Amino acid sequence: MRTKYAAGNWKMNMSFEDGQILFSEVTNMVKDEVVNPNVKVVMGVPAPYLSSFSKLINTEKVSIAAQNCYPKASGAYTGEVSVPMLKSAGVEYVIIGHSERREYFNETDAFIAEKVDAILAEGLTPIFCCGETLGQREEGVHFDFVKGQLTNSLFHLDADALQKVVIAYEPIWAIGTGVTASSDQAQEMHKELRAHLASKYGAEVAENISILYGGSVKPGNAPELFSQPDIDGGLVGGASLDSRGFTDIAKSF
Ligand code: PEP
Repeated sequence: MRTKYAAGNWKMNMSFEDGQILFSEVTNMVKDEVVNPNVKVVMGVPAPYLSSFSKLINTEKVSIAAQNCYPKASGAYTGEVSVPMLKSAGVEYVIIGHSERREYFNETDAFIAEKVDAILAEGLTPIFCCGETLGQREEGVHFDFVKGQLTNSLFHLDADALQKVVIAYEPIWAIGTGVTASSDQAQEMHKELRAHLASKYGAEVAENISILYGGSVKPGNAPELFSQPDIDGGLVGGASLDSRGFTDIAKSF
């Protein structure tokens, strides 16, 4: 049985004080209300809050994630944060390859592959984001494009390492737009991606990998999305800033 995830991505939102309240509310609600033992709740908070908020976690059902990392362990990289630093702050998951980082910070598949290696080397879990633009979908190249992102950033891994990665399919046209991919569109891509993993690593390995959907997931659409056979949860942006709604998403499996 694959692990199911409700993963939140706060992006660059929330003051320290408001974030502390939100984080505590979620961890308390999840502790009391999420009964499915196969569900993991992950909150991706701004880097300066990681060390402090990780101490608020009061249940194994909740983990904290960083929204980025730098692939070098240490050195003269002013302003960057390494994976060993994140680990020492209590971080277990690192979101990488988000479309906003690819677009605004020119992150390439090759650079993201370096981050994958750095995260796995420290025993943390990468949440690897991928997804196509609206133009690519309209041209009909979306399957090949997203499969290419997986090939370029993940396919250098051996099977054991690959199975430690969580994949998040996030069609760019659905992120922060209020437009959600239909459950059929999302399932179709997830099935394609799992088949792509199986083509290199075999069906058994592919079956073990959690593939999340991201793009305007809300409490109202989560149950239908998460009921699809190849959708193992959500990477949630806007709706993760509301403790009640995010916890409800985590209860949608
Ligand atoms: C995201 O940023 O990963 C995301 C999916 O955002 P939203 O849920 O707001 O569309």
